[in-house]
Amino acid sequence: MSQPNHDRVDLAIAGGGLTGLTLALAVKSALGSGIEVSLFDPAGFETRPGDLRASAIAAGVRRMFEALGVWSVMEAEAQPITDMVITDTALGEPMRPVLLSFSGEVTEGEPFAHMVPNTVLNDAVRAAALAAGVKLVKRPVLSYRNEGDALVLEHGGATTAARLLAAADGGRSRLREQAGIAFYGWGYGQTALVATIAHERPHDGRAVEHFLPSGPFAILPLKSDDEGGNRSSIVWTERDADARRLLALSERALIDELEKRFGLELGTLRLLTPLHGWPLTLGIARHFVGERLALVGDAAHVIHPIAGQGLNLGLKDAAALAERIVDQARLGLDIGDPVVLSAYERDRRFDTSAMAVTTDVLNRLFSNDSATLRAVRGFGLGLVERFAPAKRFFIKEAAAFSGARPRLLEGETL
Ligand SMILES: Cc1cc2nc3c(=O)[nH]c(=O)nc-3n(C[C@H](O)[C@H](O)[C@H](O)COP(=O)(O)OP(=O)(O)OC[C@H]3O[C@@H](n4cnc5c(N)ncnc54)[C@H](O)[C@@H]3O)c2cc1C
Repeated sequence: MSQPNHDRVDLAIAGGGLTGLTLALAVKSALGSGIEVSLFDPAGFETRPGDLRASAIAAGVRRMFEALGVWSVMEAEAQPITDMVITDTALGEPMRPVLLSFSGEVTEGEPFAHMVPNTVLNDAVRAAALAAGVKLVKRPVLSYRNEGDALVLEHGGATTAARLLAAADGGRSRLREQAGIAFYGWGYGQTALVATIAHERPHDGRAVEHFLPSGPFAILPLKSDDEGGNRSSIVWTERDADARRLLALSERALIDELEKRFGLELGTLRLLTPLHGWPLTLGIARHFVGERLALVGDAAHVIHPIAGQGLNLGLKDAAALAERIVDQARLGLDIGDPVVLSAYERDRRFDTSAMAVTTDVLNRLFSNDSATLRAVRGFGLGLVERFAPAKRFFIKEAAAFSGARPRLLEGETL
């Protein structure tokens, strides 16, 4: 590297969300002392206060966590999704017939997804990354310049030279902007309201998605609490103005609104956490790589949570990039070489674009009150319900088993 006075690492990662943490862990645990990895985040490495979300972790990603040795730490808090039902009615209709149902094993005893609280995911991966020797730096990467054989990163008065910079700095990525990589997308005008709900009767591992005219209302099963109380996470999509109105309601009024959507099957409901709103957007980067730069996770793509796949896509990016880096480093070659970067982009671009389009189309098709579209949806989903190969296709998608799969997603170590 050109300037001897910089701190030097092989891989620098900007962004200590789950994507950045998982990439750091995957690379460092494969190469050990053979690689220096620094991870930067101004907000630190704990789950953000207010992130009460739980994520649907697809089977392929669960296999990766197993290969990285962190699944055993998360497992006690991970609720298998045993089946999933979908309904499509207007709000206030007395009956909600099931349009489509999946019972969800990809191999015997292996569910297509588990629900895991974000705090549990984050704590397990952060602890393992630290133990593996990843250096955690509580500062932002402010900018970088290319010095040919390395990028020199500015971070709060100090500089670090890195062979490769992975930008995992989220949907509003400053580093993507600095690289001049365009980000195409739009706001949905919808907000996802998230909370944890206690309910009287057990969910039996069932996930429910009610497609309502304002957007999907998802009930996602969580592990019981320490006293055996039944809990689910809800992701409740509303148009922005309605979401603002709902966020201002008293708890009693909110429960009334909630019951209209949640239904009464699981008995009386209680809010265990405040409701938190997440504005929803779509965005996809024109390129996933630049010179000595790779975008991963939301920095490369932000999608609608309708299918619970945003984080899974980011973790697939981490698996794919880690594999390319590790293979290159084992040959003693430069990990920031364009060969590594273009292979990574090839690995991930199609899968990501396909998922972005699918979630966008699903949201447009379902989030409206058109009687014609409802008839079309009923017909289409009715066909899927009766056609076993179509169901198998959707389960494969939900399990993150579609497309070319990096070795970690097969459950192999690097
Ligand atoms: C309501 C909702 C529900 C969802 N449910 C699911 C689900 O069930 N399953 C699923 O797969 N996905 C889900 N998603 C999507 C998922 O939450 C995101 O895709 C995921 O959190 C993105 O992770 P990330 O690490 O890429 O980015 P982030 O979590 O946004 O992390 C980016 C990090 O970068 C840091 N940072 C910013 N700037 C800099 C800088 N200059 N230098 C260093 N660090 C910086 C930030 O502090 C932050 O910690 C959901 C999303 C929403 C909104």
